[in-house]
Amino acid sequence: MSTHYDLIAIGAGSGGLAATKQAASLGAHCAVIEGDRLGGACVNVGCVPKKVMWYAASLGHSLADGADYGFSIDNNGFDWNKMKQGRDAYVQRLNQIHLNNLIKAKVDFIPGYGRFVDAHTIEVDGKQYTADHIIIATGGRPLEPKLPGAELGITSDGFFELDQLPQKTVIVGGGYIAIEIAGVLNALGSKVDILLRGDLLLRSFDPLIRETVREQMQQDGINIHSNINLSTVTLGKNDNLVMVSEGGPELGVYDCLIWAIGRIPNTDQLNLEGIDLICDVRGFIPVDEYQNTNIENIYAIGDVTGKATLTPVAIAAGRKLAERLFAGKVDSKLDHDNIPSVVFSHPPVASVGLTEPEAREQYGELVKIYQTKFTGMYHAMTQHKTKTAMKLVCVGKDEKVIGCHIVGHGADEMLQGFAVAIKMGATKTDFDNTVAIHPTSAEELVTLK
Ligand code: NDP
Repeated sequence: MSTHYDLIAIGAGSGGLAATKQAASLGAHCAVIEGDRLGGACVNVGCVPKKVMWYAASLGHSLADGADYGFSIDNNGFDWNKMKQGRDAYVQRLNQIHLNNLIKAKVDFIPGYGRFVDAHTIEVDGKQYTADHIIIATGGRPLEPKLPGAELGITSDGFFELDQLPQKTVIVGGGYIAIEIAGVLNALGSKVDILLRGDLLLRSFDPLIRETVREQMQQDGINIHSNINLSTVTLGKNDNLVMVSEGGPELGVYDCLIWAIGRIPNTDQLNLEGIDLICDVRGFIPVDEYQNTNIENIYAIGDVTGKATLTPVAIAAGRKLAERLFAGKVDSKLDHDNIPSVVFSHPPVASVGLTEPEAREQYGELVKIYQTKFTGMYHAMTQHKTKTAMKLVCVGKDEKVIGCHIVGHGADEMLQGFAVAIKMGATKTDFDNTVAIHPTSAEELVTLK
């Protein structure tokens, strides 16, 4: 194996893998450094195992609905271990596929953790490698609070290691991860409480989405406690957990506490201070629109930048950067406008573009809103019901669609196509001129009045 490369990526997660494989396809001599399993957070402790569990939880809901559709189902319970074994085996297959793909792409894999020696040199396990270009793609990890007893809890990483379903779970936080884990555990039979430090869950989402998700979660039996300022976690009777809040009630008892209060970047072990690479106060690496850091040949992509921390963003940014560096496309960069995302709640949320408050702040009176809330046809037969809510945020005389927000069955699969239309500049008239597909929930988006 050589020790000098055109490009080295530190971190074999979504961004590092995509960037090096793309660069290698353009003729660059590349390596990727990784001390953990290939695929990063997404494959190992994020999107992939989470989605498997979301499917399991969705099946739980479907089984319950089955009787209303006439099935005679004996549900003899849920085998957590069987699901976990299948899920972990799938993740392992993906780890191997990523290794095979690196070999196929002729990207060298350097196992171990990298540390900068200088702006062109990285040391891994005592051996030095040099490169013309270096991409930092080290991702992030869950944040744990600094309060007495915090170590009694786990994070999303620990959630994927659980070898049985907790009976009573408390989740702290109200972002993507908290909502997704709460939905899974609740559907599989755990009693779930969510503790919010303020009053909003999914704070960055449109109010229609936030409110609909909250109502649904509460209707499905999840307790949401607002304005909880935790001071301590202690052990109660039988080693169960009790949450103590300042000036508030003690909450408990729980057999599982999950911190879902955000993620921090993996930059502390890279010796960035040694090469004068600038980080912000939380350790995220600021980059310009071309992924450039303050050092000429060093770039950062993905969660380590703290911007739009989503797998497809890291992949797209990595590929664009590789094309800029090795295909002579000097203007190649990721356009951060209209990035769609999904929260895998039950039912899921899908969102692209500006929320109504963001649009009103930017465009004031020019904003026009179309929205609807209904119970989808699937629930005509079921006792357990979920709501579907949709909002189009439009602007100007031609009512250009600048935001689309959906919660409901199928929202996760519904949005991608609408995101294309919105990225292309579709107007409300374009939506109206599109013939509906009947009977679906999605048709409501092209028939909104
Ligand atoms: P988020 O930033 O989404 O949410 C963090 C939550 O924790 C917020 O509700 C926040 O409250 C709360 N919080 C922050 N600090 C504290 C504290 N000290 N005490 C109590 N609560 C606190 O972070 P996540 O960890 O959920 O997810 C990280 C990112 O990963 C997401 O933003 C997303 O980009 C990505 N992700 C994407 C997924 C997907 O695409 N489906 C799935 C999972 C993650 P407040 O609102 O008051 O600030």
